[in-house]
Amino acid sequence: MLVEKYDLEVFTPPCDPGAERYAARVRLTVDISEVLPYLNAILRGAVYLPEAQALTWKKGGHNIAFHAYEIATSNVEDRQGAEKELKGLIDLVNRTWERRAEITPDTVTRQRPTPMAIYKLLPATNCKQCGESTCYSFALKLAAAQKGLANCPLLDEPQYSDKLTALQEIIIDGPAIG
Ligand code: SF4
Repeated sequence: MLVEKYDLEVFTPPCDPGAERYAARVRLTVDISEVLPYLNAILRGAVYLPEAQALTWKKGGHNIAFHAYEIATSNVEDRQGAEKELKGLIDLVNRTWERRAEITPDTVTRQRPTPMAIYKLLPATNCKQCGESTCYSFALKLAAAQKGLANCPLLDEPQYSDKLTALQEIIIDGPAIG
């Protein structure tokens, strides 16, 4: 196991005192920068910055950052959720490190798709079956990883198969954590 010991801290961001959202971070006693190219290979939508030894990722609307000696998350609804998410992220780092022989590391820096780029690949019917009032609202949720492609049933129809394939290439849709 790579990460065994850590200090976990949950707090309200100083830039937003009294806010109903929480941030949390763990300070590590080991350097996890060697895991980052492996995480970059398996986390869709991750942005890897090799010079900074950092990798950022969005999941469920939360902003996650991996650094050499720190993992942080923000925009979490409650303290327990923040703590649980960070423990899940540590587990993800450990599992990825244990599986590294099966993963081809990836050092490419990619940009996240914009909501407009995602929108252009949606069916554009505004049918509301995803629970959003428009396809563009759905694109915003997809970009923030608050919804998944499976929430749009029209994408399973044969006439949208090319769009679905293109979306699967760019959408943030990482493995479950927690
Ligand atoms: S279900 Fe799909 S097609 Fe319908 S509004 Fe949502 S994103 Fe658009």
